[in-house]
Amino acid sequence: MFRIGVHVSISNGFAEAIKLAKNIGCTCAQIFSHSPRSWSFTQVEKKEAETFKKRYLKENIKPIVVHESYLTNLATPKQEVYKKTMDAMKKEINMVALLGLKYLVIHPGAHLGAGEKKGLNQIIDSLNQLSDIINKKRVEVLLETTAGSGTNLGYNFEQLAYIIDNTDLPLGVTFDTCHVYAAGYNIATQKGLEETLEEFNNAVGLKRLKLIHLNDSLGELGSKLDRHEHIGMGEIGVDGFRRIINHESLRNVPMILETPFDERRTDIENIAVVKSLRED
Ligand SMILES: [Zn+2]
Ligand SMILES: [Zn+2]
Repeated sequence: MFRIGVHVSISNGFAEAIKLAKNIGCTCAQIFSHSPRSWSFTQVEKKEAETFKKRYLKENIKPIVVHESYLTNLATPKQEVYKKTMDAMKKEINMVALLGLKYLVIHPGAHLGAGEKKGLNQIIDSLNQLSDIINKKRVEVLLETTAGSGTNLGYNFEQLAYIIDNTDLPLGVTFDTCHVYAAGYNIATQKGLEETLEEFNNAVGLKRLKLIHLNDSLGELGSKLDRHEHIGMGEIGVDGFRRIINHESLRNVPMILETPFDERRTDIENIAVVKSLRED
């Protein structure tokens, strides 16, 4: 089954988010566990978590993944932020488990000038510190590929592999098409897509690919610009997405749209475009 969905709001509660996803026509979805621009978590009532779990089991919208907040940074050299990040990570992991979900999508982190190696090693160290709770709660952390803007790490597959290889956790990966393209992997062409997936497989392994963030890219190849565009309206283009959506290594991986909110196109319309490109 084709798993395609969008990021849905939890502003009316977790259980409502599933209804929202269903109304949009999602067969998978992504949520935040709390306001992504805040460090504070609202504790979910047991009853609401139960309602959510029941609905999740009933509806064929799977998986629903949780994306971490925008504030966390496992690679930060700032002690204060790092402490808050580790605390927030534990809360995120708890929330994922409480909702009966499995996947937590995280951005590896930004070193903010401390240096790439140092940043990567701190990420590894942090994940190893969290490994007990991650394993206990049966959560799987998915590292997201980044565009490499600023000092963000995870913009090439070798960095992801370095983290994975040095962590005692079964980490997965979220492949963001906009980020990967902006980072310099030319997935817009057939040849480029094949080469990129081969590189990914060699470094990380396709078996670790658990989620795709399906976004076109406003920025050019290698621009390091993290600006999402509607499917087919950006640099990857319609033909690029037709190949991505149907590629045998990608077609069975759940795809989540994180396309812009503007008057040009709605989520429902982006899903329709994606479905129109899908071949049986
Ligand atoms: Zn993300
Ligand atoms: Zn992005």
